[in-house]
Amino acid sequence: MTVLMRPKPLDGFKVREFKMLIDGKWTAGAEGKILERSSPGHGTVVSRYEAATSVDAERAIASARKAFDDGHWPRMTGVERSRILLRAADIIDERADELAFLDCIESGKPISQAKGELGGAADIWRYAAALARDLHGETYNTLGDGTLGVVLREAIGVVSIITPWNFPFLIVSQKLPFALAAGCTAVVKPSELTSGSTLVLGEILEAAGVPAGVVNIIVGTGPEAGAPLTSHPDIDMVSFTGSTGIGRLTMANAAQTLKKVSLELGGKNPQIVFPDANLDDFIDAAVFGAYFNAGECCNAGSRLIVHRDIVDEVTSRVAALSAKVKVGDPLDPSTQVGAIITPQHLAKIVTYVKSASDNGADVAIGGSAADLGLGQFMEPTILSSVAPDMAVAREEVFGPVLSVLAFETTDDAIRIANSIDYGLSAGVWSRDFDTCLTVGRRVRAGTVWMNTFMDGASELPFGGYRQSGIGRELGRHAVEDYTETKTLNMHIGPRTGHWMPKEART
Ligand code: NDP
Repeated sequence: MTVLMRPKPLDGFKVREFKMLIDGKWTAGAEGKILERSSPGHGTVVSRYEAATSVDAERAIASARKAFDDGHWPRMTGVERSRILLRAADIIDERADELAFLDCIESGKPISQAKGELGGAADIWRYAAALARDLHGETYNTLGDGTLGVVLREAIGVVSIITPWNFPFLIVSQKLPFALAAGCTAVVKPSELTSGSTLVLGEILEAAGVPAGVVNIIVGTGPEAGAPLTSHPDIDMVSFTGSTGIGRLTMANAAQTLKKVSLELGGKNPQIVFPDANLDDFIDAAVFGAYFNAGECCNAGSRLIVHRDIVDEVTSRVAALSAKVKVGDPLDPSTQVGAIITPQHLAKIVTYVKSASDNGADVAIGGSAADLGLGQFMEPTILSSVAPDMAVAREEVFGPVLSVLAFETTDDAIRIANSIDYGLSAGVWSRDFDTCLTVGRRVRAGTVWMNTFMDGASELPFGGYRQSGIGRELGRHAVEDYTETKTLNMHIGPRTGHWMPKEART
């Protein structure tokens, strides 16, 4: 049984009230709608938001459009934009405890993890600030004496940014600083469940010197406030993170005006382990990969693909370590797995487990919701004897549920890993260099970890193959994603090679 940590009631908690940011003003929604968010770990209302409808979305888009077409931001030097982004990073550090608390209390993630995410986010803002000074195109001086070719990188324009609830501040930080570095303006819509830290980011950007209208932040439901951001003709690009289903819808909406789309979607990520692996390291990474952020993570290592010779040992050792994971009160600094985002989502996770066990999988540990008196929690769960065609082995459960599958040969392992619709990330564990590289090259995923799992750096691109998404975030090319390419084809001296004969032209 896992270590359960009962949350304490949030007695006397002061509910935080938020407005939205449009054209540099903190404003109420046009229709006076209010959204409330309860802490998933306590069941108590913690935040109240002015909710946007399509009317507010239109105003936010118009503001971003004006700031792009007529404003100073896209015309500033890279150095000026970089200085502002660096100031923003400093203020993120100064307000990190407040931001981490908001993410913890609204999403249910453990407070110590939320603080770690804030550190990572500030680093991304600094990295994007450096790229703001380095964005450049190409020149071609090889086209003959009469021609010089210059390829410009220009800001793509107005970007809409739609983010989910699982990493509220981190995910907006994987998008917005790169868009700003390129000179774009933006309308941001966080998940209605976890909008607090993104709205505080609006205050931070104002304080850092981002001009009014450059970043607009609206809160509201996906269909009301989010959908206009995917279809409006004044939006040039949509950057979306969330479910594959809404990603597909976003792409279809954007297709009407042929907007560029960048999509970070789901994952069902395998960790493939061979008998010669360092099993001590692997067992820890398996537990971390499965339960980090309560498994509500597109990068979760939710499928262990284990060599048949070690599958029993691995299953029992992972189960033994899982029993020591601390689950419960998100505000306790020692908690490792916090609350599940909503009661509906918890029910969905439990249904996946039940269906797997009805179809022949064994529940090695966990399997049920954990009753901690307040909020909603799920026991860390391991399913063994899972067949590759079961829903739990193919679909994104988005909960602390680990499926164990067995393989016989390397080809077998790669085939199982590649047999699903997703391709976000993967891990391979072996002391043999050839094995790691063979698997690393043949697994169809945007990131492959070797003898580690879910490490990251601002320098390293992140994104998916197939139905895990389109485009890459982070890395030095991230800023280029928010640009258009323009060719300046210049002729030097009198034009040669006329189309019409000389007699006709004189
Ligand atoms: P969604 O894809 O519904 O939400 C992601 C974002 O899209 C939110 O801001 C949401 O707004 C918004 N949205 C919803 N509908 C629309 C729409 N019609 N047009 C524009 N924007 C829209 O994810 P869920 O929160 O419903 O989670 C469902 C499942 O998605 C999870 O169980 C998980 O499998 C997966 N998921 C994957 C994530 C990832 O990182 N890859 C992150 C989150 C979820 P709002 O929240 O306000 O409705």
